[in-house]
Amino acid sequence: MPGTLVVITGPSGVGKSTIARAVLQRTGATFSVSATTRAPREGEVDGRDYRFVDRRTFQRMIDNGELLEWADVFGELYGTPSEPVRRAVTEGQTVLLDIDVQGGLQVAEKMPAATFVLIAPPNDAELARRLLARATEDDDAARRRLAKAREEIKAARGSGVYNHIVINDDLDRAIDAVARIVEQNERMNA
Ligand code: ADP
Ligand code: 5GP
Repeated sequence: MPGTLVVITGPSGVGKSTIARAVLQRTGATFSVSATTRAPREGEVDGRDYRFVDRRTFQRMIDNGELLEWADVFGELYGTPSEPVRRAVTEGQTVLLDIDVQGGLQVAEKMPAATFVLIAPPNDAELARRLLARATEDDDAARRRLAKAREEIKAARGSGVYNHIVINDDLDRAIDAVARIVEQNERMNA
């Protein structure tokens, strides 16, 4: 029985990677390592967190049709390499994608049977607080991200693609909710 894709999406700063990391520890799901042109942050490992590539390499991946989806997120390119996803799904694994809203909508066109989870902030003020609290952001970048986040939540809710909406208010509860969705997929693949 082939496996399934679980796409976790939501605006920047909402807590996707925090939730994804915890869910991966708790379940047997496999993480889809994205390619990106952005520079590694402190503690990030090439090949584990991202595959860090230059623009020319990323463009070649696009031209060769190697990406399941890709998007420009605040001037840096991010994309999901198709082949590792295809292989893992063929092997019966549940594959977790942590990607932005535009990317999630592209996956929905190609693989409508995947599971789509929208992580939403409890409210606007809290999203702003989390974005501003992130040490990697200067205030201006964080403000731009906040404006985009509002648009993205609207687009995601309006698309009808996201069959699961998880409000990341209490982190443990949000992790539980996403882990349950992943476990449900794992049971279907067993
Ligand atoms: P994303 O991957 O969506 O960009 P992160 O996982 O990097 O977001 O989280 C952004 C910030 O919000 C981090 O500092 C993280 O520790 C914090 N955070 C995540 N979830 C919660 C939560 N439920 N309550 C408070 N802070 C949170
Ligand atoms: P960050 O730079 O904070 O790691 O990620 C910025 C944004 O890019 C996040 O919303 C993250 O989910 C998204 N992202 C990471 N990988 C991919 C990908 O492969 N494709 C798309 N479309 N977005 C991605």
